[in-house]
Amino acid sequence: MNTKITAKQIDALLPQTQCTECGFKGCLPYAEAMANGDAVHNLCKPGGVAVLNSLKELLNVQVDLQPAKVKELPAVARIDLDKCIGCALCIKACPTDAIIGAPKQQHIVYEKDCTGCKLCLDPCPVDCIAIETISNTIPTEKEDKKRAKEVRILFESRNERLAKRDTERLKEKKAAKLKLQVGKNAMEAEVNHSQKTDWRSKLSPELQAKMEKARANARAKYDR
Ligand code: SF4
Ligand code: SF4
Ligand code: SF4
Repeated sequence: MNTKITAKQIDALLPQTQCTECGFKGCLPYAEAMANGDAVHNLCKPGGVAVLNSLKELLNVQVDLQPAKVKELPAVARIDLDKCIGCALCIKACPTDAIIGAPKQQHIVYEKDCTGCKLCLDPCPVDCIAIETISNTIPTEKEDKKRAKEVRILFESRNERLAKRDTERLKEKKAAKLKLQVGKNAMEAEVNHSQKTDWRSKLSPELQAKMEKARANARAKYDR
């Protein structure tokens, strides 16, 4: 394998469906594995023969492998609204943010953004999502490339959204921790203060009276 080939170059050839069918957690991890020489180049099912050949050319692989899995017809996910309980678990699984819905409300799939990757099927606790074929024709190489560009944008904007959300959550967590520490410090200061002042109560009544008289004299002198 040509070691100069980067994961980014390889990733640019992958369909970006992010389906994990290759056994990796998405297109880029698979690309990274190939760049490191840890994965063969025939594992991308949505890519079919076209992607396989592009990879072979880029990686300068001499071995002729057949696609490990057969490419399927274009399909999208559809949700049975009568069964959906609005748990939102499918939203978390969708790599392209193609599912829309608020908690405890019915969810729908925005089909234009759905790649048919099937990642939303397993998390659904009531099995109300089905993958349905939307065309009887396998897309051409040109159509696949165009689609890959669109899906990459969806996937990247989802990652940006998640990163932003995580940063916000971290900030909130830090602010809450700081607030808690300030409260704790104030409480400790209060305890220290009362411990320091408590020694007066342990003096004899005569001594306390003498001290009080001295304080009153000092105040009277100061006030004049
Ligand atoms: S599209 Fe291909 S490379 Fe990307 S996750 Fe699916 S199988 Fe893997
Ligand atoms: S809706 Fe389901 S099948 Fe469609 S892209 Fe999202 S996870 Fe994949
Ligand atoms: S996982 Fe299933 S039940 Fe939950 S919101 Fe999605 S479609 Fe509805």
